[in-house]
Amino acid sequence: MIQTRNLGRDYSQGTRTLSVLSDITLEIGAGEFVAVTGPSGSGKSTLLALLAGLDRPSHGQIWLAGKEITGLNEDTLSAIRADHVGFIFQSFQLIPTLTAIENVRVPADIAGDNVAAKSAHELLERVGLADRAAHYPSQLSGGEMQRVAIARAAIRRPSILFADEPTGNLDSSNGEVIMNMLRDLNQNCTLVLVTHNPELAGLAGREIKLRDGRIDQIVNNQTNSLLSALWKWIQ
Ligand code: ADP
Repeated sequence: MIQTRNLGRDYSQGTRTLSVLSDITLEIGAGEFVAVTGPSGSGKSTLLALLAGLDRPSHGQIWLAGKEITGLNEDTLSAIRADHVGFIFQSFQLIPTLTAIENVRVPADIAGDNVAAKSAHELLERVGLADRAAHYPSQLSGGEMQRVAIARAAIRRPSILFADEPTGNLDSSNGEVIMNMLRDLNQNCTLVLVTHNPELAGLAGREIKLRDGRIDQIVNNQTNSLLSALWKWIQ
């Protein structure tokens, strides 16, 4: 579903080059739930933006949904994003002048996808906000705004959902609601989640740990839980 080879991202600062990601080679399969973790500044958001085709790498290659996206022009890339990718931000990124239901419909309207546009109300219902359809973002709580953002990300049934610290601005009970919604969506799509919350990372099948812009470790949580179940059974 996602593959990278020797991916890197540099920023130039005056005469200096700052390398924020280097040598990232990974594969994420269809339907997986992968957490990207690491200390602040380790490159998590940069990696997510590259994988989602929102930013361009300085080195290496990326394949998304079976296509190499590395050298594509902006129009082709945005068409691939529109058809395959949903993105959820920590800061929700709703359009303040549109109502909740209009925000949910935006990706469908841009793509001219009338079938998807018609599902906006049903999606708001699914995230428990049918009665807030006509509210503007300023009339919603943080948890409600993130639920609208999830409905918006899901409207075109993306095959890959990226979430960058989606619960970072929420209290723990709202965070739990959001995580349950994301795991529900993961039944039908791949989920890649940036978090520095170890509990959330523990819910993922695999955890890609970054340090100083490089992969430090990839932890297979499923193997861990299988091994510990086996160990308990043996004893
Ligand atoms: P994380 O998500 O793990 O906190 P980021 O991916 O946001 O880390 O950032 C990784 C590093 O890249 C940081 O040191 C950050 O300052 C740097 N960085 C991010 N964006 C830019 C930019 N536009 N220009 C220069 N440096 C940047």
